[in-house]
Amino acid sequence: MENTVRTKARSGVTVLAGPTAVGKGTVSTFIRDNYPQVWLSVSATTRPARPGEVEGVHYFFKTAEEFDALVAAGELLEWAVVHGVNRYGTLRSTVEDAVAAGRSVLLEIDLQGARQVKQAMPEADFVFLSPPSWHELVRRLVGRGTESAQEQHRRLETAKLELAAQPEFDYTIINDEVGRAAAELVTLMGLTPSHRD
Ligand code: 5GP
Repeated sequence: MENTVRTKARSGVTVLAGPTAVGKGTVSTFIRDNYPQVWLSVSATTRPARPGEVEGVHYFFKTAEEFDALVAAGELLEWAVVHGVNRYGTLRSTVEDAVAAGRSVLLEIDLQGARQVKQAMPEADFVFLSPPSWHELVRRLVGRGTESAQEQHRRLETAKLELAAQPEFDYTIINDEVGRAAAELVTLMGLTPSHRD
């Protein structure tokens, strides 16, 4: 897919997805820290907060009952069970308000969520974050050492399926280096990456 040719009107919403362990979280953290011109959507999740995570900054942390209520009230633009355990979802009203305010919105979500956004908001831009190679994806997943061997195996099987989804996306960015990938994404969003030395 040619990254420099736009075939759609800009909706103000960009969806970033990609396989497990490709570094979506690292890229979105880099964007949060370096590109205030991007409005990074804060998801709701039933996952417990990790040390250092802040309510309303990294996620809105919800109980299962609170999450059920958001789903029932139609307040989620998309939601999914990720890695078979916790639920994650995008709050519809916060995204709509940011778009209405003219902000450039970025959703960093999993593939199931990206497909739902494509149904609800086909005019959005869909960006696939790809590893430089399969070998590198395995290295990143095993290297971070946060999952058991069995869980690593399960996630690599999932990653194979997720990599096959690349043609569903408008653009592909290779996550070879986080700062470079983030700058490419911000440029794709039509924003000028501020100069960093
Ligand atoms: P983590 O628990 O490591 O923060 O995130 C786990 C996964 O959940 C990542 O793949 C991330 O992209 C995905 N995720 C985070 N927020 C959302 C969301 O609002 N919707 C969906 N579908 N996935 C999300």
